[in-house]
Amino acid sequence: MVRDDCIFCKIANGSIPAATLYEDDDFRVILDAGPASRGHALILPKQHYQDLCQLDEAVGAKVLGLAAKIGRAMKSGLGCAGFNLVQNNGEAAGQTVKHFHMHIIPRYEGGPEMVAWKPGSADAEESAEIVGEVTAHL
Ligand code: AMP
Ligand code: ZN
Repeated sequence: MVRDDCIFCKIANGSIPAATLYEDDDFRVILDAGPASRGHALILPKQHYQDLCQLDEAVGAKVLGLAAKIGRAMKSGLGCAGFNLVQNNGEAAGQTVKHFHMHIIPRYEGGPEMVAWKPGSADAEESAEIVGEVTAHL
């Protein structure tokens, strides 16, 4: 399904132009309009899925391979030293556009810290509780 009220549906299907790195039957890969680093890209499926939980499994199975292909080309073409894959699900996780997308963020030697958190601590009792709470829903 393609939604006519969704900006990423429009971009992915070519009705709004975007700087395109790659396109096939399932995806368009574009440059992010507010890049975290030089070359920051987004993988957009052409069909509308709100987030990872709604993503079609066959489409989802292709996402990592495509990210690797783009990441390799970024390392060769842009000279980045590495890259982060970031994929936000839900507003609480920072998702602002409600059409599944995966960020590919090139990282350069000496570049700014971007994806970081302060490590907490895990205790055995709480870990057992968490395992129970999640696995009950698998
Ligand atoms: P997220 O916070 O994971 O939902 O990321 C949404 C991303 O989409 C942000 O990095 C925005 O900069 C980017 N973005 C929003 N609108 C556009 C657009 N029209 N073209 C390209 N990137 C966009
Ligand atoms: Zn959409």
